[in-house]
Amino acid sequence: MRYLFAFLVLLSILTACTGNTAQVPTYTIPTATSLPSTPELPAATAEVIPSSVAASPIPAPGDDFFTQMGVALTTPTCTGPTQSQTEGPYYKPDTPQRNSLLEEGMPGTRLILVGYVLDQNCQPLPNAWLDFWQADANGEYDNAGYRLRGHQFTDSQGRYYLETILPGLYSSRPIEHIHVKVRPEGGNEITSQLYFPQQPIEGLTITLEDKGDYQLGYFNFVVQR
Ligand code: FE
Repeated sequence: MRYLFAFLVLLSILTACTGNTAQVPTYTIPTATSLPSTPELPAATAEVIPSSVAASPIPAPGDDFFTQMGVALTTPTCTGPTQSQTEGPYYKPDTPQRNSLLEEGMPGTRLILVGYVLDQNCQPLPNAWLDFWQADANGEYDNAGYRLRGHQFTDSQGRYYLETILPGLYSSRPIEHIHVKVRPEGGNEITSQLYFPQQPIEGLTITLEDKGDYQLGYFNFVVQR
């Protein structure tokens, strides 16, 4: 009887231990070598947002943008002053001074817009003020901040350049456009809008060249000094 009791006690202990051992899950702490390899994020990201623009490639201040980009402006011809157009509801004054409106990861097709500001005699005007504002690739304006807004001045040869994206359409205005104000030094300010070849407006349409990874646009302004 004593042996039977001892056997039963031993059997119950073994059963309990065996049961507990079977019920406790076991985890293997992954080591560095057993961790899955990191996926190649840059390639995946680039494929997800193919139209994102890169950071601005604009040369450092003091460098000649036109030389570095290989952009040559032809001798301008002038047929009359640039016509004015309505300012629209989205203008904001006191924009940052900058030639590039690009921001890291901003979606859209990159556009570099270049040209002269000229007087009524077709002479280039250095130090003319230009202020650009536009919708983003989704057709939305930043009315809280200054995204896709900026002003600049023509260089000593009367040239300007703007690095931005092609604007998107918005429902109330189904034509792509960039807003601009131009004021020659000591002259009168004009407000207008620039358009694109697929929906041209006479006298206000940018000439576009497809450069592969960006569009190069040309437009000369003619203003009264
Ligand atoms: Fe607009």
